[in-house]
Amino acid sequence: MQSDSARSDPKAAMRPQPEDVQNLSSGTTSLAHAFAMARHRLGEREACALFRDLLSISRTKIAANPDQLLDDGDVAKLTSSIVRRCRGEPLAYVTGRRGFRTIELAVGPSVLIPRWETEELVQMALEHIASSSRVLDLGTGSGCIALAIRKETGADVTASDVSAPGLEVCRCNAETLGLGIQLVQSCWYESIDGIFDVIVSNPPYVESDDPHFQCGDLLHEPRLALDGGPDGLAGLRHVVAGAPAHLSEGGRLLVEHGCDQQTQVQLLFTAAGFADIATHHDLGGLPRVTQGALP
Ligand code: GLN
Repeated sequence: MQSDSARSDPKAAMRPQPEDVQNLSSGTTSLAHAFAMARHRLGEREACALFRDLLSISRTKIAANPDQLLDDGDVAKLTSSIVRRCRGEPLAYVTGRRGFRTIELAVGPSVLIPRWETEELVQMALEHIASSSRVLDLGTGSGCIALAIRKETGADVTASDVSAPGLEVCRCNAETLGLGIQLVQSCWYESIDGIFDVIVSNPPYVESDDPHFQCGDLLHEPRLALDGGPDGLAGLRHVVAGAPAHLSEGGRLLVEHGCDQQTQVQLLFTAAGFADIATHHDLGGLPRVTQGALP
């Protein structure tokens, strides 16, 4: 299967090398000069993201105060960040932040960087969630799905992950956002108790030998969160087969998957006894989210 995020980063190989980065000198670097340097290396969009997320300086502020000097700490932060980005580290890991629907999350190399396709999984799930619903997010990572659902519906949300460092990122995000959710360290359903009205999951679904593991953001992201085994379906099999035992009557499961996995995923839903099975196409027209309900 072709990795979805790697397809969107064709310019990665053309990025300037870190040794090109000119030293910005402490005490004498103006906002305009530093911004011009960042833009020259990374382009307008990423330069804006660095200033906004690292230094809390907006594009408008730079335009209004071009001669204002950056302090030494900010110059050092900016220079090392440009170098890290030039070396190929994902922008979200360099800034440590990524927006997802209406929330902003802290992210680092122990969690997958939230993707816009996953925002669509949340959109589909919202149709079936009320403030009284019990929701489980399996393999939560940064907590993007669980926290967005909690924020947008007020539902009772449980987020689980097998990775302790991943779950710690989710816990920090929940705390920063002031969103109360339950966290459980669990390999799929192993340590999950209770019954839920809706289960959602963005499990690992990239095939182990997908060449995109060797390039782009995927090189830096946790393999555990991406690698779905030889056919990419190992995680999806666990999530779908185990769901009926944890769903209420009429309960619903929604999963994200690769754009060429629709048929196999629908078969997994049928084999597990789901009815009302449907696959949603994303904004790019690709089949990316499958859902079903218990009869
Ligand atoms: N969409 C991601 C990618 O292709 C994969 C996410 C996942 O495996 N859950 O990079």
